[in-house]
Amino acid sequence: MASMTDDTTPFADPDGFEHAADLLASARRVTVLTGAGVSTDSGIPDFRGPQGLWTTDPDAEAMSDIDSYMGDVDVRRRTWLARRSHQVWKAEPNAAHRALADLAAAGRLHALVTQNIDGLHQRAGVPEDEVIEVHGTMLRVMCMTCGLRTPSPEVLDRLDEESDPRCPVCGGIQKTDTISFGQRLDPEVIERAAQAARECDVFVAIGTSLTVHPVAGLCDVAMMGRAALLVVNAEPTPYDDYASAVLHDPIGDVVPALVRRALAD
Ligand SMILES: [Zn+2]
Repeated sequence: MASMTDDTTPFADPDGFEHAADLLASARRVTVLTGAGVSTDSGIPDFRGPQGLWTTDPDAEAMSDIDSYMGDVDVRRRTWLARRSHQVWKAEPNAAHRALADLAAAGRLHALVTQNIDGLHQRAGVPEDEVIEVHGTMLRVMCMTCGLRTPSPEVLDRLDEESDPRCPVCGGIQKTDTISFGQRLDPEVIERAAQAARECDVFVAIGTSLTVHPVAGLCDVAMMGRAALLVVNAEPTPYDDYASAVLHDPIGDVVPALVRRALAD
């Protein structure tokens, strides 16, 4: 007998979708991990994808290296200009961001761990204290000497007069509060993320290749805590074989549909 959902679920693997929706619907604590794939619908390019920043502009990779940045004023000048013209300033949250905010509003989101630095989850309405930004945020600038943090627009506004705006307190080099290559992730932030993975009963990885550690290892942490793993990503990931369901459908379609189903039950 054909189930009703065969007609109503437009996804590649309807059974996988149903299984994922059932798991999400019955979960008490859901922890979500998001990567660049969640923000591409908002016009923010993936770093490593075919249209990715590093693929189309090798100079961008030098700007992401902490030693080049700290040691070369020209790299900093180019980085500030790139930050000012970044897509993030005109980007809006998309359907997937809004769906995850609905999950939070329904009290079903334990934590949202994100590799993204665009602040779009918070702008969609996920409470600040439920978002764990493992790669930092572009929305803030940090002084590399004294640690002063300033909203990015205040610093970017100074670019017309200064090509490398220094810290107003100590004169130190400033940088967006993001993790560059060669920089360690913040151990406290990673521990919060690991705790959120340990405490959930469903862990959903969305729009991330799950190839960059330690963040990808959060899947292992969640599964060791007996959580079910759901993977939503266009491309296969190293964790697909361990997942209860793997959905390769477009994130902007499948995430809102999953959340609607989970909240309707
Ligand atoms: Zn300073």
